[in-house]
Amino acid sequence: MKIMKFGGTSVGKPERMHQVSQLITRDKEATMVVLSALSGTTNALVEISKSLASTNKKAAVEKVEALEKQYRSFILELLSGEVLRGKANEIITEHFEFLRITQKISLSDALNKDILAQGELMSTKLFSLYLEQEKIDHVLLPALDFMQLDANDEPDLAVIELKLKEILAAYPTKKLFVTQGYICRNAKGEVDNLKRGGSDYTASLIAAAVKASVCEIWTDIDGMHNNDPRVVDKTVAIEQLSFDEAAELAYFGAKILHPTCIWPAQLENIPVKLLNTMQPSAAGTVIKKEAGSVGVKAVAAKDNIIAIKIKSSRMLLAYGFLRKIFEVFEKYKTPIDMITTSEVAVSVTIDTDVHLEEILAELNLIASVEVEKDQTIVSIVGNEIAKTESVLKKLFDAINEVPVTMVSYGGSHHNISLLIPSTYKTKTLQLINKGLFNL
Ligand code: ADP
Ligand code: ASP
Ligand code: MG
Repeated sequence: MKIMKFGGTSVGKPERMHQVSQLITRDKEATMVVLSALSGTTNALVEISKSLASTNKKAAVEKVEALEKQYRSFILELLSGEVLRGKANEIITEHFEFLRITQKISLSDALNKDILAQGELMSTKLFSLYLEQEKIDHVLLPALDFMQLDANDEPDLAVIELKLKEILAAYPTKKLFVTQGYICRNAKGEVDNLKRGGSDYTASLIAAAVKASVCEIWTDIDGMHNNDPRVVDKTVAIEQLSFDEAAELAYFGAKILHPTCIWPAQLENIPVKLLNTMQPSAAGTVIKKEAGSVGVKAVAAKDNIIAIKIKSSRMLLAYGFLRKIFEVFEKYKTPIDMITTSEVAVSVTIDTDVHLEEILAELNLIASVEVEKDQTIVSIVGNEIAKTESVLKKLFDAINEVPVTMVSYGGSHHNISLLIPSTYKTKTLQLINKGLFNL
């Protein structure tokens, strides 16, 4: 079986759904199609939820109505017969009735997640009707029946595998399946999600669960580029990346991939291909065990980073100090991204301020602490990067004018990370493009 995931822009217009239907029927292998919400829908649902949280019911009503209008005209363009249009309108009515009811009850975390799930539920149901119209035999599988989180809110791959096996066994002769990306159930049985951009993660988890031959991520660009195309003018697609390289780029901000979507495919050694729905013949990027080549491949940037400098003169020669610090972060389930140490200080970065106050209060008991917000991690990634001739010299020559606040090098064979104030991000990415990539 192969997995084909299509992102928001790939299904965001009726003609794109038409294109997707052609792509998924090109070869004979059994295929699981994973769809995102139509582009813009999840953002709209986030806004609706925010309005409800701020008790601005009027704004929420207006946003729901505007979104519903979009779906009504989408149906008119997507489907031609009255019967299928009628079915589609019924589906949309049901989902928007739910969104209207949410305005009458108080918003909870669980309800918020229910609201966010509506996008993928609608896109897959509409796409399924379109396939029906085109007489393309398929089965629509509800992701909520198999996509399961464990008690730590991490995907439970063993359960996903078991459930999918059972579900698929009921359709031994079917070749085409469609399901929702992003949405899942948590350990309490509530509707939950895999965080923004999570449909990539769904695709990779399903690929690992069914031991797929390939996991194709179809999007609006021809693969992973060497730099962020939203920030830098001249960027080029990368032919091949290793799982480790791709995982680092995804984690450190390359938006084309969900931050943690590589590990399931890597676990089962399933190649991941990044392909362009708008340009299907472009080679794209293949991600597999082997890196293909040595040296610098790409740079990515992750914003909203908080740097914490922890200083203690008592740390000098004191064993156990790092453990005490790490225990504080562990207690508040806050992962550390970058770390550098000197004789008397440890600097770390985190990407969430959810427990910042508590963390700082506890650290203050053992050391003096300084905090800097609005930082960006810039990660330069490439297989055996250290073996690249004068890579550090080239890098620091290129960004000479940037005030770098932390450097992490040598932690892995394929990453050099810098911490910079976010105001320097655009400049830094542009300078690196010239200095390291000659673009
Ligand atoms: P989808 O809706 O298909 O999931 P996304 O918007 O999540 O698509 O991801 C694709 C986008 O990621 C591209 O349009 C591009 O602007 C952005 N992007 C950021 N960094 C990179 C990169 N290094 N290579 C390719 N695309 C990138
Ligand atoms: N629709 C979700 C989002 O916009 C998931 C995804 O597109 O991958 O974040
Ligand atoms: Mg995405």
